Amino acid sequence: MKRRQFVQSIGAGSALAGLGLMSGCATTGGSSAKVVVVGGGFGGATAAKYVRLFSNNSIDVTLIEPNAAFVSCPMSNLVVGGHSTMAEITTPYSNLSQRHGVKVVRDMVDSIDPVKRTVKLASGGELPYDRLILSPGIDFMPTLPGMAKAGAADKVLHAWKAGPQTVALRQQLEALPDGGTYAISIPLAPYRCPPGPYERACMVASYFKVAKPKSKVVIFDANDDITSKKGLFTKAWADHYAGMIEYRPKHKLVDVDAVTNTLKFEFNDDFKAGVANVLPDMRAGNIAVKTGLATANARWCEVDFLTFESKAQKNIHVLGDAIQIAPAMPKSGHMANAHGKTCAAAVVALLNGQEPLANPLYANTCYSFVTAKDVVHVASVHKYDAEKKTMVTVPGSGGLSSAASELEGAYAKAWARNIWADSLA
Ligand code: FAD
Repeated sequence: MKRRQFVQSIGAGSALAGLGLMSGCATTGGSSAKVVVVGGGFGGATAAKYVRLFSNNSIDVTLIEPNAAFVSCPMSNLVVGGHSTMAEITTPYSNLSQRHGVKVVRDMVDSIDPVKRTVKLASGGELPYDRLILSPGIDFMPTLPGMAKAGAADKVLHAWKAGPQTVALRQQLEALPDGGTYAISIPLAPYRCPPGPYERACMVASYFKVAKPKSKVVIFDANDDITSKKGLFTKAWADHYAGMIEYRPKHKLVDVDAVTNTLKFEFNDDFKAGVANVLPDMRAGNIAVKTGLATANARWCEVDFLTFESKAQKNIHVLGDAIQIAPAMPKSGHMANAHGKTCAAAVVALLNGQEPLANPLYANTCYSFVTAKDVVHVASVHKYDAEKKTMVTVPGSGGLSSAASELEGAYAKAWARNIWADSLA
């Protein structure tokens, strides 16, 4: 089931070609139509590549991204655990430009003018667009006053955007004396990658088991219970890390003292950690919020699931973690990649005066490492419901591993290589 769903998702390109979307030759006023993509993560990189592919390279695509290369959050917990390297989770953007003709601009978008249809770059330039695709991922809400103090964000890390913080968290764990405690705090759902924090706890414990056997991992969860793969994680904790991992639900973090690494909770006692790893409340990336697109609780961007066009602004499409998800639809790289293809097909159709596809279908698979080799997965399939105008899970689809295995470890690594290639190669 898992492999079939993945192939189905990856195969979306050829299916759309069969529907005639690749013959497009979109122009505006005689020149090529212009699509600007903001953010070169799973959603944005995929959308940029597939707008080029689906339009037979007739649409001019510019991707704006501040980072020199793509660093993957999936597999980054392996780096935290000491089982992988940054080089192994990093992919260059050069294929997008050299193979697909995407203009990759290393910059930040500072503001968007939806009326003039321009984006302003942090470096000062301005770019016009016919359609804008925004996939800025997440940013953190300023709900923890202590995290705003000087130096706090460099000491109490999230490492929830793969990159320098992934390395810094690993260094903090290496510097922790044997017997020291690592604490991770999880915000209320929805947040990026529901099983990710529990996987991280496993990876830190797998390191402690070998290098610091007297150390402990404490998981403080604002949610009432483990939000994903509960039975599989609790079994892994009992089988591999008995007495080392402690799970405490219903712990809503309200502040942090970064000087002493103290976590402060709404109803529970303070906790002082050796390494404090705090995942603050999340919302759509700042540029989406600043542009007035975060219409759901001022956090997430509501979109039309047929096109990913924002419900707040015409000609702006929002993808990936930044959107208000449909029920049971996770904020995952796999989903963002699928959003990228559906949105790309819709943008090409709209720029060619055609109707977008009426029945998108996405699969999602999320793997989690519970040891350096053993992996578990959860899978789901989501289809568009025209009456409800949202995505619904397909009854009887998807599922969960029956047990952790090394075979799934091999699948997980193949999944990562495939999705990085599909998004970026
Ligand atoms: P991102 O991939 O974060 O991309 C956003 C990009 O936008 C960034 O590159 C950023 O630099 C750029 N950007 C932001 N603002 C601007 C701006 N103003 N101008 C220009 N660029 C901008 N998902 C899975 O499917 N499977 C997994 O196993 C998995 N494991 C995970 C493990 C961890 C530890 C974490 C943290 C996440 C994991 N995820 C996993 C989730 C996955 O990483 C995200 O869901 C995915 O990255 C979302 O893609 P995105 O395009 O929305 O955002």
